[in-house]
Amino acid sequence: MQLYNSLSHKKEDFIPREAGKVSMYTCGPTVYHYAHIGNLRSYIMEDILEKYLRFTGLDVKRVMNITDVGHLTSDGDTGDDKMLKGAKREHKTVMEIAKFYTDAFFADCAKLNIKTPDVVVPATTYIDEFIRVISSLMEKGYAYEAGGNIYFDTSKLDKYYVFGDFSEEDLEVGVREGVEADGNKRNKADFVLWFTKSKFDDQELKWESPWGIGYPGWHIECSCISMKNLGEYLDIHCGGIDNAFPHHTNEIAQSEAYLGHEWCNYWFHVHHLNTNSGKMSKSKGEFLTVSLLEEKGYDPLVYRFFCLNSHYRKSLVFSWENLDNAAQSFNKLIEKIAPLTKEAAGEIDKAEYDRLRSSFDEALGNDINTSLAVTALYDVLKSKANASTKLALLRDFDTVLGLDLIKKAEDKANAAGSTSADIPAEVLELVEQRKAARKEKNFALADELRDKIAALGYEVKETRQGTEINKL
Ligand SMILES: [Zn+2]
Repeated sequence: MQLYNSLSHKKEDFIPREAGKVSMYTCGPTVYHYAHIGNLRSYIMEDILEKYLRFTGLDVKRVMNITDVGHLTSDGDTGDDKMLKGAKREHKTVMEIAKFYTDAFFADCAKLNIKTPDVVVPATTYIDEFIRVISSLMEKGYAYEAGGNIYFDTSKLDKYYVFGDFSEEDLEVGVREGVEADGNKRNKADFVLWFTKSKFDDQELKWESPWGIGYPGWHIECSCISMKNLGEYLDIHCGGIDNAFPHHTNEIAQSEAYLGHEWCNYWFHVHHLNTNSGKMSKSKGEFLTVSLLEEKGYDPLVYRFFCLNSHYRKSLVFSWENLDNAAQSFNKLIEKIAPLTKEAAGEIDKAEYDRLRSSFDEALGNDINTSLAVTALYDVLKSKANASTKLALLRDFDTVLGLDLIKKAEDKANAAGSTSADIPAEVLELVEQRKAARKEKNFALADELRDKIAALGYEVKETRQGTEINKL
């Protein structure tokens, strides 16, 4: 398999350190708010990577952190504490906020068929481990105390900007909006490992440490959680591209300083989801969540399908029109599969099976080219293979793609024939009008039409399989 490595800026053969096994680490969410669908794009593509590795027979162990302490609004060490901000907004404690949004995150993942990593660690459960590693960095001379905080000394490294995408000038502290210089830092790139002199007097979560009562910085948690669960060497580290600097750069700095050798071989970064007006974020404009997609009548798996149609290393532009197109293609795809589920079973044609499977395998084996993998899926449907062979292939592909193809196709096949025949033409006409109104986002009109349909004794609702009409 070939995988693009952000460290070398090229595609490389993927060779795990230990034959047959892959250790994989994913930066988890900061649980102060719902995840927006831009963040979830990264988790979808990482999920595809993990499932593809398993598809090829590799034994994957994947670990993820949950950030419930220490992440400030800038990814450096400035701005407000995200968790405190969430708690204040909702008049709850930090731990209540963490619990609520951790559950919400995994609920979103479940709707998107994103597998939960094998090990999930909330940062607040690993404080002793952070203190142990920071103490070691102090002993080795890679960290210093200043103004009450513990900082990592980036001048002790031969090379700090490992990803090489960033000119040091661009990163001058103070240039980026909202960033204020920290006079305690010896070098501008130094970062906090442990805060004791918090400017946040109301910081709720604090722990004893050799340097006084305080709390960990954001970056240290991923290094510690990874090393503790996956050992001194890591095969693949994943994250969104905006994590490459400073977060992943700092993770590498402190992990390698601590270990005394190279740490992670492959860095997998998923690019942004943009709207027409720029990068999607929680602070700007529309805040798009999985729940919002559902409220508007979209199946969350349509969003997954939408993501699969473009490469993870390209920015993807989200618009309702683009999502509508994906929904249409997805429905057509399910419609094509539906009759196969009813056809009589036959022998699997091994030669056809192998041929079609290998083109799917090649697509994903070429740096997770998901759009080509989707093409391979259509090729199965177009092929002359019999229904059992096609179904077996689709079932196999779906262990990676995660689109519930067979289940949806069966539901569609079972629902067919029981619908339109008995429903009055007047109701069907109103249902069509309502569909058009929804498409134009005229939800007021859609609601009005739904009431008219109800007055005629029928209930119309949007389900994962499309529009459903039932007698009241
Ligand atoms: Zn991380």
